[in-house]
Amino acid sequence: MNRILTALALLCAYAALASCARESAEPWTEEERLLVAEGEGVMRVLTVEDTLDLAVLRAPSIDLPVKEIGSATFATLAARMLATVTCPEQDGVGIAAPQVGLNRRVIAVQRFDKPGEPFEVYPNIRITATHGPEELGAEGCLSVPGRRGNVMRSRNVDIAYVSPRTLKDTVESVHGFTAVIFQHECDHLDGVLYIDKLQ
Ligand SMILES: [Zn+2]
Repeated sequence: MNRILTALALLCAYAALASCARESAEPWTEEERLLVAEGEGVMRVLTVEDTLDLAVLRAPSIDLPVKEIGSATFATLAARMLATVTCPEQDGVGIAAPQVGLNRRVIAVQRFDKPGEPFEVYPNIRITATHGPEELGAEGCLSVPGRRGNVMRSRNVDIAYVSPRTLKDTVESVHGFTAVIFQHECDHLDGVLYIDKLQ
């Protein structure tokens, strides 16, 4: 009987958490819409060297409602994040929305594990599990100019996100260096920088 009650309590806690996660999603603010719509292409990358930028980089990010992932604003943000991370001055392998001034759970990652190594954009993303031992690897960050350092990361992760194409909840397992990029970018969404984890 106790076991059944425990299972029920866990189920209720999970349901509360799931509904809480959805409630935390809020529509674009007017300020966010303007930031995305003003200018074209490459966006300014926030850095730890600026006090106001640092406050945004250290703030936790929130989800987007699913209908906003289907919006023109999201499509523009995705295109501009890709333009920013791939521009010659940055030449990065990943970028997170807080780095361009939006505290939203959106990242772009270069998929070194796919043919052609394309960049892809992941809204409402979370790492749901890591597997296997962590390994040391060198990292840098567009928001921490001129520095690199070693961080311990898993090479196998499970991710959950909303597909920008189908707008459906999607899960996936990712391996190798690409898994490291996902962890670095998802840390940004919790206000965490790789310099917090230097070995
Ligand atoms: Zn970074």
